[in-house]
Amino acid sequence: MPRIKLLDARLANQIAAGEVVERPSSVVKELLENCLDAGANSVEVDIEAGGAKLIRVRDNGCGIDKEDLLLALDRHATSKITKLEELEAVKSLGFRGEALASVASVSRMSLTINSQAQGSGWQTSNDSGNGEFALSPAPHPRGTTVVVRDLFFNTPARRKFLRTEKTEFNHIEEVIKRQALSRFEVSFQLRHNQRVVHHLRAGQQMMERERRVAQICGPAFMENALHVDAEAAGLRLWGWVALPTFSRSQADLQHFYVNGRVIRDKLVGHAVRQAYRDVLYHGRHPAFVLYLELDPANVDVNVHPTKHEVRFRDGRTVHDFLFRTLHQALAEVRPRTHAVVDLAVSESAPGQLASQQQMPLQQHYRPAQPVSQIGEQMAAYRSLHESVLDSAVETLNADFDPARQEQQAQHLENSSANPLSHLSTKLTSEASEIPPLGYAIAQLKGIYILAENSDGLIVVDMHAAHERITYERMKAARLSDGIKRQPLLVPQAMAVSQKEADYAEQFITVFQQLGLEIQRAGDESLVVRQVPILLSRADIEQLVRDVLADLIEHGSSDRIQSHIDEILSTMACHGAVRANRRLSIEEMNALLRTMEQTERGGQCNHGRPTWVGLRMADLDKLFLRGR
Ligand code: ADP
Ligand code: MG
Repeated sequence: MPRIKLLDARLANQIAAGEVVERPSSVVKELLENCLDAGANSVEVDIEAGGAKLIRVRDNGCGIDKEDLLLALDRHATSKITKLEELEAVKSLGFRGEALASVASVSRMSLTINSQAQGSGWQTSNDSGNGEFALSPAPHPRGTTVVVRDLFFNTPARRKFLRTEKTEFNHIEEVIKRQALSRFEVSFQLRHNQRVVHHLRAGQQMMERERRVAQICGPAFMENALHVDAEAAGLRLWGWVALPTFSRSQADLQHFYVNGRVIRDKLVGHAVRQAYRDVLYHGRHPAFVLYLELDPANVDVNVHPTKHEVRFRDGRTVHDFLFRTLHQALAEVRPRTHAVVDLAVSESAPGQLASQQQMPLQQHYRPAQPVSQIGEQMAAYRSLHESVLDSAVETLNADFDPARQEQQAQHLENSSANPLSHLSTKLTSEASEIPPLGYAIAQLKGIYILAENSDGLIVVDMHAAHERITYERMKAARLSDGIKRQPLLVPQAMAVSQKEADYAEQFITVFQQLGLEIQRAGDESLVVRQVPILLSRADIEQLVRDVLADLIEHGSSDRIQSHIDEILSTMACHGAVRANRRLSIEEMNALLRTMEQTERGGQCNHGRPTWVGLRMADLDKLFLRGR
């Protein structure tokens, strides 16, 4: 073992940076937090090359005294707390005194400050690259500018982990948006490669706040959101929650703040999910912007270096409060209600709740539609695809070859007269000609087809089998004919975020292939002009939003395809032969033959088996018959 030595300060800082500075956006996060802690009401962020080349954050906060400037760059140097008791009730975003030291150790950094209303400022930088900071006068209005160049230039391992300029910038954008949602009184400006990407004006009025939320989360979120504001047991929860019908395919529109701090917390996530549970389709994610306020002494923020996690002193109460507030807010929703939920009133009139719980779920595009709607859909589909549907039903009879019918009739005669003699003939000469599902013998209770094959008995669930056949035929027809589309009588305009609009534009041909004709109509709006016929009754807006979320997250989406399949499947289910319908032997045989030719013919659309076989050996066992 080598001797033990103290790490030098620079190396220690670089190691600490490993925890705090993962990528350019983490630098932006730390610098923004410092601006907000300094009481700034205006923050400007300049980024070049996704932040790898340059990050400049400028604020009009309190600045730093010249005497403290060099100290601010030391590890464990902070103006925010001095003793443990203060940590226990900390109100500032920072308190660890690590960020500047960490960032400085893995970049070329400069700080320009002025703590006075007048006078010029001071600058310090380690541009020399040897880790030393020098002090010199420099003009600066009251406030602070931090410039970080060439991030990770001296830690190549970290630099290698940087993604494309676009990806890194997206992360930065996210950080700014999240922070901007927490401080309506601060204006934020973000530029990338000299271009203004976001300019968010300050404003504390309700309308100004809602304007910012709409700018960040998209206007549609705001239009579909309920405003919540509730207080109990020293806790206050306020903000906006989207109606269940505005659910997302990804958990990408969820912002939660505890005392102004951006957090991701299991307990919070659970309480919110639970509140949405009986109103949200399985696999969907709610959208919300929520602020929890409580006595800082009741929440521990010193849980993780990036301070994304917190620990509540009384987690139970917090969970309960969140759940009850949101659950109640959602229970109050009537179709197309956007009013502020007045919890005080509803508490005094609990009897009204039950009747108001009706959710506008049928607007949702997912397949759980009321049967009447499916009927209508089928009618529409039938008129356009008559041949497909009919052939699906008719082939059950039409696939029948008269020559083989005779042969089959022969078999049937044999089998009904003397199954064993039939079996022996089969075993000798015809075994290879007997189709896998054999020949129908009888129908049981109008539900099952009994058939005999070379191994023994086959039992077929008529409805399940027909359903699968119909479904597969519909899919095949769609594949060969392409997705049928239909122009909308009134093109549907939709408000989206700029990012979503960018993606829609970029993937315009992908949408076209899926039968959707979309155009960009402005910075933050799209127009849908054509939709797949099968989806003409679906919630197209929701579908487009989901596809965009998929594209942004994964770069691809199979949502439209699978949604069309889901509809076909539902239609197939409703179109399939019902129980108790008597089929002739011929019809049954036709069904068996078609099953054999159908892909996935072994299970119905819901995954249940369409047939089971009982071999002679199995039957022998049932009768304890030795051979
Ligand atoms: P922390 O924020 O945890 O205190 P930092 O390393 O981020 O640690 O910052 C160290 C100190 O530098 C802060 O405590 C604060 O006094 C000062 N400081 C940093 N950035 C700013 C800023 N933008 N405006 C004013 N003071 C700042
Ligand atoms: Mg800090």
